[in-house]
Amino acid sequence: MCANIACAVNTIDDEEDIPPVWRAEELSKLEGPKAKHPSGSAVQEPSPLAGALGEDTEESCVVEADECDERDYCVPEDESAGSQGDYVSLKENPERFTGYAGAGAENVWKSIYRENCFLKPPKESPTTHNPAAQAFQHVLQDKPALELTKGPSGKPQLAEIEVDDECLEKRVFYRVISGMHSSISMHLCWDFLNQTTGQWGPNLDCFINRFSGHRDRLQNIYFNYALLVRAVNKLRNWFPQYTFCSGDFQTNRLTKAKVMKLANAIPNDIPIFDETIMFQDDMAVLKEDFRNRFRNVSRVMDCVGCDKCRLWGKVQTQGYGTALKILFEFDENADPADNPKLRRTELVALINTLGRVSHSLEALSGFETLWEERNRTM
Ligand code: FAD
Repeated sequence: MCANIACAVNTIDDEEDIPPVWRAEELSKLEGPKAKHPSGSAVQEPSPLAGALGEDTEESCVVEADECDERDYCVPEDESAGSQGDYVSLKENPERFTGYAGAGAENVWKSIYRENCFLKPPKESPTTHNPAAQAFQHVLQDKPALELTKGPSGKPQLAEIEVDDECLEKRVFYRVISGMHSSISMHLCWDFLNQTTGQWGPNLDCFINRFSGHRDRLQNIYFNYALLVRAVNKLRNWFPQYTFCSGDFQTNRLTKAKVMKLANAIPNDIPIFDETIMFQDDMAVLKEDFRNRFRNVSRVMDCVGCDKCRLWGKVQTQGYGTALKILFEFDENADPADNPKLRRTELVALINTLGRVSHSLEALSGFETLWEERNRTM
């Protein structure tokens, strides 16, 4: 529950407003023929309605297998029919200024950055002498491990913590989290509530306060953009077999066409993000650690004390978790049955997270224009 109205999430209370296939009545039906998934695994089709979505419907549109895969980077939400839940339209609940701040928000960020405290990598990390790793350095500037502490004025600040042998994987983890933090800050400044006029709009001072002198925070948004685009690109041969579940055949076709366009947006030979240089050779323990820490970030999101912030925080953590799963666990050339299964909720989170980061970059460009205008008129 949220005391601040801006934190509240608008739910869809009338089931008439959602496609029949998503209604509680359908969610509770667990029987039906088996349906095929691109990964090769068969899942239970819950109702004849799901099968009637269109000629190419192959998998369950509603209830997803609840089993956890050890290759998951996020804790899956319980979607099962018995659980209490609300229908929420992400479009009706834009990520924007909510007023959530203070000790609560500070502690959540602090806990999230604390997860960036890794096991030491092997001394002879192959990434340190790999030419590809060096090529990657333009994206991964040298960055010490950071921790949130109180500054002299009592304001929270990031302080360096002593870490030896900081590895590429750890810096990637930090940049994903920092980029997500930047993107959230960008949105709250771009869609800010002027409490005097009651108007919503961009707040240049909010942007300056949060980003001035912190080029790395902006670079981390680009970093996340590259990571997400590459993850979607890696699914380009997988999407054609995937069944979309809007409840409407035409919408399914249109959605598939749009997603395919997105997946094919970058040519294959452009190394926008080279995941192959991470977790090489004997780095299995580090990878496990990386995965567990990301799962912890996903759990920490449950502690966000503002419903709307938690909604978007969870969507985006799951989006990055899915991207990491695709980048590090998914083999484009392997037999589909050997790849981990991707849940519908993971794909929805992935595409929405890419949407958020793209919008952050658009907002950044908008702030640059506002900044130039302000300088011209001063
Ligand atoms: P904070 O953003 O709280 O940052 C704390 C400290 O972290 C800063 O002092 C700085 O040292 C460091 N830091 C800041 N940015 C970065 C970065 N990009 N990389 C590395 N370090 C950084 N508020 C809203 O209005 N709308 C929302 O939708 C919203 N969603 C949120 C979602 C989550 C998961 C959380 C934890 C908070 C959310 N908030 C949201 C609150 C918001 O993020 C800030 O916490 C709040 O606005 C207070 O800002 P602040 O200036 O104190 O610094």
